[in-house]
Amino acid sequence: MSKLEDIVNLCKRRGFIFPGSDIYGGMAGTWDFGPLGTVLKRKIMNAWWEFFVEKRDDIYGVDAAIIMNPRTWKASGHTETFSDPLVECMNCKGRFRADKLGDFQADVTKLDLDKALVKCPTCGQHAWGEVRQFNMMFSTHVGAVSDETSEAYLRPETAQGIFTNYKNVVDTIYPNIPFGIAQQGKAFRNEISPRDFIFRCRELEQMEIEYFVHPDTWKENFEKILKECHDFLENKMKLPAEMIHDVEVEGADLAHYSKRTIDVEFDFPIGREELMGIAYRTDFDLNNIARESGKNMEYRDKNTGESFVPHVIEPSFGVERLVMAVLTAAYEEDTVGDSARVVLRLPEELAPYRFCVSPLLKNKPELVEKAKEVYTKLREKYGNVTWDDSGNIGKRYRKQDEIGTPKCIVIDFDTLSDNTVTVRDRDTAEQVRVEIKEL
Ligand SMILES: [Zn+2]
Repeated sequence: MSKLEDIVNLCKRRGFIFPGSDIYGGMAGTWDFGPLGTVLKRKIMNAWWEFFVEKRDDIYGVDAAIIMNPRTWKASGHTETFSDPLVECMNCKGRFRADKLGDFQADVTKLDLDKALVKCPTCGQHAWGEVRQFNMMFSTHVGAVSDETSEAYLRPETAQGIFTNYKNVVDTIYPNIPFGIAQQGKAFRNEISPRDFIFRCRELEQMEIEYFVHPDTWKENFEKILKECHDFLENKMKLPAEMIHDVEVEGADLAHYSKRTIDVEFDFPIGREELMGIAYRTDFDLNNIARESGKNMEYRDKNTGESFVPHVIEPSFGVERLVMAVLTAAYEEDTVGDSARVVLRLPEELAPYRFCVSPLLKNKPELVEKAKEVYTKLREKYGNVTWDDSGNIGKRYRKQDEIGTPKCIVIDFDTLSDNTVTVRDRDTAEQVRVEIKEL
């Protein structure tokens, strides 16, 4: 079994992540977070918000609507160009992303597929239709009338909810430049072939910042943000630096509006793939909005009196990819004594539970009572503490190792006489005696 399958199985077995609509046989490209996964995801999102918004005074939050005026997507270029090349197999009617059928670019044609003798991954035949551009935005209808005038889209990115509020923020907060606007929230992409667990989903969660700067200062601000992103990934998410790689996007791969983009890649079980990106978007977005809305997007510097349209640096994170990276870095199989185990070496700040408290034996009321007392105290103090009195103690340790609980606290007969407990460490499996009041 591959490491990805091991992680997918662990996630389902222990209540981190389930296939979306599992009970009805699933829904392609969607995933549901279970009790433990929800805590992990929330902790990651909170850590990001704290790091980039709360702990500094130059970035402000917004929480924009998911359904936006369709002019948003006209101005941003999504209506025109947010598409992937789609091709249909005339034999089995299977639909595929044409550029993923081999070593192709986004402008791949039927002729390219024919020349390369590409066969259908489903039926093995060679019978391709024409390649056409498939727009990935999910459309819906707003209100009771269902015609072209009521058509709207679920946002394909959170960034435009930030850009469209730039003027509102400037006119109400009067921030000094450089400043940023941050948003976390759902985005939707009708991927032709969602795949690789939560890596490429149709419904995803993004964490994005648009950082507005004076055009002359974009280079140093780009470097500053790149450094901050690494600081967050390595010191808050505790991802090993050697698994993180900066890739300078060059030439034809660079989006037309970007003067510099760095893809930050990570060694996922599926290979080295994009974890997040940092793009210098110039004044592309604000100028588009100025054109579409007829509003002035200039920023007036109170200190210099200069007026200009700010340029933008955009660090963009996908939450699911970050969850997958954290799980990848944490997942390990090793042996303790002579027994094999699976262990999630999650950072203490991200683990769903910080402590597990249990009585050595569940049929001894005096042990259970004492353990409940310790459990209640720790819960009041730390919140995320779990209780486990099932099976034998070895089984409980295996389970807590699998869900990444850093410390297990066991109440035994000695506790009753000397008020000490056994504290067992997840990573080393070592046990020490600690006084209850020292916990
Ligand atoms: Zn086929």
